[in-house]
Amino acid sequence: DFVSVPKVSQKTQALNNSNESELVVHVEKLVKQYGDTIVLNELDLKVNKSEVVVLLGPSGSGKSTLLRCINLLDQSDAGSVHIAGQWMGLQHDGRHMNPSEIALQRSRVGVGMVFQQFNLFAHLTVLENVAGPLRWVYGMEKKQSYARAMELLQRVDLADKADALPRHLSGGQQQRVAIARALAPSPSLLLLDEPTSALDPELVHEVLSVIRKLSIDDKLTMIISTHQLKFAREIADRVIFLSGGKIIESGPAEEILTTPKHPLTQRFLNIMT
Ligand code: ADP
Ligand code: MG
Repeated sequence: DFVSVPKVSQKTQALNNSNESELVVHVEKLVKQYGDTIVLNELDLKVNKSEVVVLLGPSGSGKSTLLRCINLLDQSDAGSVHIAGQWMGLQHDGRHMNPSEIALQRSRVGVGMVFQQFNLFAHLTVLENVAGPLRWVYGMEKKQSYARAMELLQRVDLADKADALPRHLSGGQQQRVAIARALAPSPSLLLLDEPTSALDPELVHEVLSVIRKLSIDDKLTMIISTHQLKFAREIADRVIFLSGGKIIESGPAEEILTTPKHPLTQRFLNIMT
């Protein structure tokens, strides 16, 4: 039985009324565990409008889990996430939201996600991959959805591939389609989870330059997990380092990447460079 999405919480209203309205992401004391493993341990994170935050941390440190909890792909065990002042609530009347409530919540709040493995619909054309969700999730008319999808495909320089199937595209092109799809509903926040990790080295550049363009031209608010330190340095307003379920170091990219203070960050960067 479908229950309406929770009303904006009191905390959200307080936030909206304060001078913190430029806050796009507000994660408070987020807890996520799998069995006995605590992956996120009362993690706090704030991201301002137009800020690009790069998430670093060893494999298994919880980068994907954090991004998935922000986007409601994973259910957190405690704590809260607000996006653009709206509560990304999982529980309502003491129970979890159902998938359609979650999809509605995600679309209302405006958060898009790009995955390591692209996750395109294999049997649908490039155009339909971008246009389809605009109809299924956002109720857009067919004609309008195609116009919007073409607009986005032009932005990622793939308009000429509109009628192709994903398997006929390179990995870099597929990831650019995934970015176009995530951007089509004009999200206020874009999450990118290791967007270039699945790519051959020679294809990394084309994806990174699209992401760079989104930051510079569109001032899009983004959280990006990546192991590309050079890219992190170029694009990040802030780098955060995740370990033991918490953010153990956070600051300007230049500072964190050249003079990290925490021993674990130092060790990680030594291995990476
Ligand atoms: P990262 O993205 O930084 O590599 P993840 O968020 O994928 O880290 O994983 C963090 C920890 O949570 C790891 O120990 C991983 O094994 C565990 N984990 C992630 N997803 C699941 C799951 N669905 N079931 C059980 N454990 C999981
Ligand atoms: Mg991961």
